[in-house]
Parts: sequence; structure tokens; C-alpha cells
Amino acid sequence: MEIPQLIANRFRLEGELGRGGMGAVYRAIHLGLERPVAIKVLKPEFAADPEVADRFMREARTMAKLRHSRAAMIYDAGRLPDGRPFIVMEYVEGQTLADTLARDGRFAPERAVRIACEICEVLSEAHALGIVHRDLKPSNIMINSRGVSVLDFGIAKVLAGNSTDITRTHATTEAGLIIGTPRYMSPEQCLGQTVGPASDLYSVGILLYEMLAGAPPFMEQMQSAVLVRQATAPPPPLQSRRTDVPRRLALATHALLAKNPQERPKTAGDARLLLEQSLAAVAATRPPDAAAADVAVPGTNVPGELLPFASTLATLDARRLPASRFIVFAAVMVACSGALLLAWSRLGPTTSAQAGGVMTAAAAGFAAARPDVKTAWPALSPEAARHIAASAGTQGVIADARHVRTPRGPVIIAIENRRHEGASRLVILEPRGMVAGGYRVAGHAPLDKEGFSGAVWTLETLDADRDGYEEILCTGAGARDDPFTRRLVLYVPAARQSYGVRVGLDGREARAVRVRWSSNAAGDRAKPYRTALRERALADLPHVKS
Ligand code: ADP
Ligand code: MG
Repeated sequence: MEIPQLIANRFRLEGELGRGGMGAVYRAIHLGLERPVAIKVLKPEFAADPEVADRFMREARTMAKLRHSRAAMIYDAGRLPDGRPFIVMEYVEGQTLADTLARDGRFAPERAVRIACEICEVLSEAHALGIVHRDLKPSNIMINSRGVSVLDFGIAKVLAGNSTDITRTHATTEAGLIIGTPRYMSPEQCLGQTVGPASDLYSVGILLYEMLAGAPPFMEQMQSAVLVRQATAPPPPLQSRRTDVPRRLALATHALLAKNPQERPKTAGDARLLLEQSLAAVAATRPPDAAAADVAVPGTNVPGELLPFASTLATLDARRLPASRFIVFAAVMVACSGALLLAWSRLGPTTSAQAGGVMTAAAAGFAAARPDVKTAWPALSPEAARHIAASAGTQGVIADARHVRTPRGPVIIAIENRRHEGASRLVILEPRGMVAGGYRVAGHAPLDKEGFSGAVWTLETLDADRDGYEEILCTGAGARDDPFTRRLVLYVPAARQSYGVRVGLDGREARAVRVRWSSNAAGDRAKPYRTALRERALADLPHVKS
């Protein structure tokens, strides 16, 4: 389409800068001020909405309040003689993040974090003024010698066509345009819900993910598929895409990508701090052997640090405590007289004699469910999960269930008591389709074993390997044939693996604890699960003494 060489009698066009979904952007000179500007001329489709230019004028006034060196100012708006609206913006030199990523593939963690932090810097100020960007994506991030400059602040809101806070992002115009960019849009935006500052933080999470992994988490060809995945599917663990991303940085990125806006960092300032600290911790604790870095990082306690907010990550702190409890307990047990026997052997019937009566209190302690870490979005309550499991063709009684996320999508894990067999098993249910819909039984894992049946099983969730996905920990106590032994099974939905440990007292005097592991619990890969099982198995044992 033709474009006049002089716009509004004062902007002389110099050349095209680029084209996007909304139209084309030209470099122009403001005659009189003799300074360069960028003029975005919207596609004719937008001319159909007579309000759009007016809205831009109104928005330009709001945007003008945002005076930040990292935000491209909006100066003016109007209409071309043919009716197409245009927006006059600050011209920003440099290369877009899109071009930079196309050239460099992916960035070193330090560089990615610096860019994300600079975006958070300007978001802090914008959000304080009530301005939400709504369309953060690589082509709206300009990088030059001064760092980052963010383009197109608030433009998506104007184009979405309403003055309320609801963005019609996934609604299409008659011309079939999608306003917003699904790959970078927050779940709430994809679902057409209220969009607030947290939505921008999600987009920062996607940008960070892309800068680190080389591609955003959801890459389907069809935009509608991306919208659905963005709204419902957990992002693939960042460390599975790139192993040398420090674990804390991966956790911080996933915290930004929490489906539930309330589980993301509360403000852009918090997000920035979280990101900075995720690298500060690495720098502070990097051992001489770089390969060991990830091992050292999670336990690091930076004074005044901010931890990821996503509920799936909330175990970070909680998981630290049992380690000390384990040490205290071990000391108590050893001091009490016995040797602590940690026998590495196949999980099977224990040969140890039973201690009469002493463990009853402990058994009760084990049977009591601990408060669980909340399951992440899309959150189904344990009751809802139990109900779904019960109606999905399971044969026994569903005693308890949890809804957890995996890199492949949500799953429901349930304990099924099969009365006629006097045994329990874990039932794994997976969704039938990609969206909502029903669940079907996808597999089983035995809980009771020979010599350990009729136990009462309880269920809790935890993130033992700290990958942002929860595992299921089942504790069985009060088995008919072995009432003083407890068996713990940790099921890892992401890997479809389970690990077991059996803890019993050794000898009638209860002077030692015998711990038996399932054969697959040996080895490095199982280490976080072993640690979690050990901590949980031994945490309650001091009850024995009382
Ligand atoms: P998109 O953001 O989807 O790429 P736009 O129409 O917003 O589409 O921008 C098209 C291109 O024009 C951008 O990728 C960028 O290279 C360039 N551009 C946009 N705004 C500016 C600006 N204010 N200063 C300099 N270049 C710009
Ligand atoms: Mg743009």
C-alpha cells in the first residue's frame, strides 16, 4: 500500500524499519526538531475501527507518563488520508532481541539474566503507573550499547479494542488477526482473562527461557495450539533443554512461568532480585570443580534472599530442614545404644525381628498425613482428583489422590485399596486429550509387597529433585504381617519411575533401624529421591522414644 512521504505535515519518511502483525514501521524525521522518529502505520484492517486512533491518542497520554530510559516513548498518533491510523514513537537504535537471538542462537546465563533484569527495571516503573505492556516479545526488545529498550508499550491494549483491563488477545478481528503473540502470552491472556502486571512477568519468563534454551517453551506451528499449550501445559524443564543452566536460574525462570499469576514473583522488582540472586548464588558458591556447581547451589542460603514463589518450588526451603532433623535423629538413635544399620539391599521381606509394641506411636505418626505442598496449576484439589480417579475405571477404593504436573502435562496419582486382595497400589491417570476432558488409567505401581500387606497408605507431594515438578511420596504403615515396619514409595511422574525404601527396627529391643532400598535406588540419578525418602522415613522415628 502506498505511504505518503510526508505525514501530518511534519514527519518526512526515510525508509522502512520492519513489518509486524499490526503493520509497518518507518523511520522518519521530525521536521523542525530534526530528530528521528519511528512511525508505525497500522494495517487497513484497523482502520475499520474508527475508535482506534482516538484510543491511541488517549493511550499516548498515559504512555507519556512513562519516562524511562529503557522504554520507547510514544509521542503522537493520527490518521493517514486513507484512514489508516499511525503512531509516532521514539526511534531506538540497535538490534532487536529477535535478530540477536537469530544470530547468536542462545545466550550465556549472565547475558540472558542481564537482559531480563533490564526489562524488569522498566516494567517496575510502568507497572507502578498502571501500564501493562501486554506484548513483550523479542521483536519488541531493542538492544544497543546502553542495554535494553522496550518498544510498543501498551499498544496491544489499544488494539485489543477496549478500555477495561481485559485484553481481547485471543479474539480475532474479522480479518483473522491475533492481537498479541501466543508464544509469549501469559495463560490468563490466552484465556481472555484479566491481564495485570503478572502477565508481563510471565512473558519475561518466556523471553528468558528462549534466551537460555534457544527456543521458547511452546513452539507449535498452529497459533491455536500454542494458545492451548500456553494456558494448560507445563513448560518443559529448562534444564532438560540446556543442562548448563544453573539450577537456581532454572527455578527462577519456572517461577516466572507459573500458570497461576499469583504464584509468580509478586512484582517486577522481586523478579529482578530473584534473577540476580539466582546467579549471585552461583558466583558465591561455585566450587573449583564447575561440574559440582549445581549440587552446591540449592543449599546455599543467601542472606535476605528471595526464593521462587511458585508453589511447586516452595519445597526448596522445606526440603532443607529434614536434613538437620535426620542428623539430630541419627545422633539420638546412636546415643540411645544401638548401631544405625543402613543396609543396601533389594527391597524385600525384612528378616529383622519385630519390636513389640514400641513402634505403635511411631506408626501413628507415620500414618498422619503432613500438609502437602499445593499442586501447581491447573490445580485440582485432592478431593477432585480422588473423584476423577474413582470414576475412571479403577476397581478398588480410592483412598487419596493428587493432581500434579509433569513435562508431558498433568497427571493424577491415586492410592487404590483393593480390599479383596488386602493390598494397595498406586494408580496413574493421564488425560485423554490435551485439553480438559477425562482421565484414563495409564498404569499401576504396587505399594504392598510380600510380607507387607494391608498397610494404611498416605500420600503427599514434594519436589525432591527440585525440577519444578512434584513427586508423590506414599507412606505405608501398620501392615498386617509387619505392623512395625513402614514402607515408603516415591513415584516420579515426570520419569514414570518409583523408588522404595523399607524401614524397620532391628531386633526386639529396637536398638537399630534397618533400612532397605529398592534395587533402583542406588546410583547418582536416584540420589535426590534417596535423600527425600531417607529424610521422610527417619524424620518421625524419634517418636519411638516417647
Ligand atoms: P513486531 O514488533 O511484531 O516485529 P512492529 O510493527 O512493532 O512488529 O515492528 C516491526 C519492526 O520495526 C521491529 O521488529 C523493529 O525492527 C522495528 N521497530 C519497531 N519500532 C521501532 C522503534 N521505535 N525504533 C526502531 N525500530 C523499530
Ligand atoms: Mg513491535
